[in-house]
Amino acid sequence: MILGVIADDFTGATDVASMLVRAGLRTVQTIGVPQGEIPPEVAAADAVVVALKSRTTPAADAVADSLAAQRWLQAAGARQFYFKVCSTFDSTPAGNIGPVAEALMDALGCSFTIATPAFPDNQRTVFKGHLFVGDVLLSDSGMRDHPLTPMADANLVRVLKAQTRRKVGLIDHAAVARGEAAIRERMAALQAEGVGLAIVDAVSNADLLRLGPALKDMPLLTAGSGVAIALPANFGLAPSGQAAALPAPGGLQAVVSGSCSPATNAQVAHFIAAGRPALALDPLRIAAGEDLVAEALAWARRHIAGGPVLLYSTAEPAAVKAIQGRLGVEQAGALVEQAIAAIARGLAEMGVRQLVVAGGETSGACVQALGIAQLRIGGQIDPGVPWCHAQSPAPHAPSAVHDGLHIALKSGNFGGERSEEHTSELQSPFLISYAVFCLKK
Ligand code: ADP
Repeated sequence: MILGVIADDFTGATDVASMLVRAGLRTVQTIGVPQGEIPPEVAAADAVVVALKSRTTPAADAVADSLAAQRWLQAAGARQFYFKVCSTFDSTPAGNIGPVAEALMDALGCSFTIATPAFPDNQRTVFKGHLFVGDVLLSDSGMRDHPLTPMADANLVRVLKAQTRRKVGLIDHAAVARGEAAIRERMAALQAEGVGLAIVDAVSNADLLRLGPALKDMPLLTAGSGVAIALPANFGLAPSGQAAALPAPGGLQAVVSGSCSPATNAQVAHFIAAGRPALALDPLRIAAGEDLVAEALAWARRHIAGGPVLLYSTAEPAAVKAIQGRLGVEQAGALVEQAIAAIARGLAEMGVRQLVVAGGETSGACVQALGIAQLRIGGQIDPGVPWCHAQSPAPHAPSAVHDGLHIALKSGNFGGERSEEHTSELQSPFLISYAVFCLKK
């Protein structure tokens, strides 16, 4: 293993894993810190991304979980560590970016690290230490009103200072634009001033690629997924299709959807309009104690031989509000997630080996119900949506996951509508089943 990544949430982990694969590293994502022996798939990977849920937990818990991940990655052979944070630097004065970065620095005996969420491909740029989301400062973006991590200050030096004991500095664009030697010079000057963490300006991929060589010997990087594009060259690797290669897909195909986001609503409508078999799941019937899971699986068994089927609770905002009014927001969410997760498991037992899951929380529930401990990351179907291969030795995992299951986890508004000609680029039936779901009429 070359690179050990500690990601502070599940979709953030998939995001950076997908970037690493595109940059040429064979990458596996684990769900939490793996227990027991190192599985062969993990041992064969260039990069392993441990997905934690530490972005908004109490700082002490985030530190403990991150250190456990770091110890496991180190034992598995990681040579460099990457603490993956959100590209909008989601955190509060209590943490968790600062406390986790410092704890990892202590564990690795590292006196200096960079911290930059710059991700120009995703419209996240940093200039003079200020983070821009698209054309506006972070503090003028929707992140200002985030329920858990409101970001009211775009000055990342100030934001990080509030969370750390160490001195925070800036590697500004003037240094980044001049390349490796100037960046190293700036790093040395900052370290001489006693700076432990430095925000880095980057407004383009070219900036990140200039930064990459200067990071070669740094034990710990703290960054969003943007920096991932600049690392493989340090290990003598170049982008190639090889890193994304997964075992050949086979078996039955299905889509389950618990996402009610506008893109998913459009995708479900398209799937139905295309005349493909789709079954709506009514949360009120689940709440009434009806065995909707058994009913849904019996329905799927009747239709699935003919191609992908869709089972969905996806609904328009007014309908969701009405259900939430009757059941409560959390109760409705949990009931639907559990039902869809049980359906996903039943589908795997039925012989589904290619599964698309729509919805971030829904994906978490399905991955858990399927007993998936790790995912090998394949090519990108859509920005932010890689296709993956799961093979889990977990004792409670259904047989499908033992055999291997191709799965795409599509959160919220991901998955653009596709035109017919795009499908010809998709080389596997699995990708086509995804495309069918996301295809433009
Ligand atoms: P997204 O990625 O689009 O946000 P999530 O799966 O993260 O999707 O969140 C959707 C939430 O809405 C889940 O908790 C899900 O169980 C819940 N949900 C799904 N369908 C309905 C529905 N018809 N009524 C109420 N809640 C629903």
